[in-house]
Amino acid sequence: MSTHEEELRKAVSYALSAGYQLDKDAFEFLDSISKTKDPAEFMEEVIKRAESLPEKPYFLDRQFLEEIAKETLPAIEEEPSIISQAKKLFKPFAKEISSQIKVVENPADKISTSGSIEEYLEYFHDRFKRLERLLRQRIDTRDAVSIREAYKAPANAKLKVIGMITEKRESKRRILLRLEDLESAVTVLIPANAKRELLEKAGMLLLDQVVCISVVKGRRNLFIADDIIWPDIPKRKPKTASEPVYAALISDLHVGSKTFMRKEFSNFLFWLNGKYGNSKAAEIAGKVKYLIVAGDIVDGIGVYPQQIRELAIKDISKQYELAAEFFEQIPDYIDVIIIPGNHDASRKALPQPAIPKDYAEAIYEKRKIYSLGDPAIVEVHGVEILIYHGRSLDDVIVSLPNIEFNNPEKAMRLLLQCRHLAPTYGAKTPIAPEPRDFLVIERIPDIFHAGHVHVVGYEYYRGTLIVNSGAWQRQTAYQKKMGLTPVPGVVPIVNLQTLEVTCLSFA
Ligand code: ZN
Ligand code: FE
Repeated sequence: MSTHEEELRKAVSYALSAGYQLDKDAFEFLDSISKTKDPAEFMEEVIKRAESLPEKPYFLDRQFLEEIAKETLPAIEEEPSIISQAKKLFKPFAKEISSQIKVVENPADKISTSGSIEEYLEYFHDRFKRLERLLRQRIDTRDAVSIREAYKAPANAKLKVIGMITEKRESKRRILLRLEDLESAVTVLIPANAKRELLEKAGMLLLDQVVCISVVKGRRNLFIADDIIWPDIPKRKPKTASEPVYAALISDLHVGSKTFMRKEFSNFLFWLNGKYGNSKAAEIAGKVKYLIVAGDIVDGIGVYPQQIRELAIKDISKQYELAAEFFEQIPDYIDVIIIPGNHDASRKALPQPAIPKDYAEAIYEKRKIYSLGDPAIVEVHGVEILIYHGRSLDDVIVSLPNIEFNNPEKAMRLLLQCRHLAPTYGAKTPIAPEPRDFLVIERIPDIFHAGHVHVVGYEYYRGTLIVNSGAWQRQTAYQKKMGLTPVPGVVPIVNLQTLEVTCLSFA
């Protein structure tokens, strides 16, 4: 295909991506002007105008294009814009570098549940075993005994027990916990006059998580807590890339929703192609070798009541077709990795299989994509990334008063400390009873990437970079009702050589 045709095709697919059709006359006109100007840039202007109309047209006709061409042509001729300058100079570094990508963990090919009671028992058994093992890797928990042994100890004995929190009752006077291991259960008291540090720790406990509690045995089989130990991750130096390659982390496109920010997302794609932003932005773009998408690619159908009113595209396959049009515009030297979110066409229960081909064929056909399950682990340029959509962040934020929606990285940090992606069972996050608990964080990631909350945030915790990658959806009616203000159109870009983050805004 010649460059001319290539550019023309890009302009057309850009219009389609933005939800517009071109009729034959309009296409011929676009072809005729493409000899003197960049048709994609021109199309960007056309779409901008179409967006500003009180009633958005479905077709872009020749007359409309002609009017805009008349107004914009001279200005562009006389004074080349930053966009076209950057394009001329754009020689992406990442294009010269071969990709190094390894899928370390992908639940998608191992999922096997039917959902019987026996499976749930097996699932919880596995969860307990795995987390107990992680806890016992700590020096300060090695002397922990089983609950049954703890019962045999004399009064006032100091002990450590490991168990799953199955109940948490708080009152002004005290906190009562029910702790269970595989054989037995015990009630643990945290008195109101306990040290502040202990009360704070107890306040952070989530149901169904596994912890070690240091206790003093009281009378009548009641145990009094004096410390709580999370499995946590050890402090260490993360692995980094030997070359200055970058990964762009995104999530929550919600293609198909009326509030999907197609223009801003197109700007992001233009940027990846070296056609948007100043020379510094273009330099960063040229180093992007990996694009990771942590779920909610489309808005889906029937995800919540009355969603249909907020949909611009009411057919999930068509939503994926449009998403595929966008993905097609990603430079081909960039590796694209995607996982599903709760809005995608995969089953909703975690772990989620990869987005199924029968609904999302277009995504698989338009360009090469690594389509994995949720959660998944990949290693890119030597850096291990745990990718998780983040459904359970809702549960963490709702159940703990000191963690809020505008600091999703804090909720993510707590998941790392729990060494589990969805500690609480039976809340908003559906969990399938796989014989193995894929949600235990067995491996310590260099980067922990999630989305779902629609707010960008990042922090470094004990060597791990925690990133929440925001969204490409303006505030929805539901979010408004809940008082959530999203931070959309902002992309955290990670330098894999240093794990430094640059956030670029396309909004
Ligand atoms: Zn979302
Ligand atoms: Fe989500």
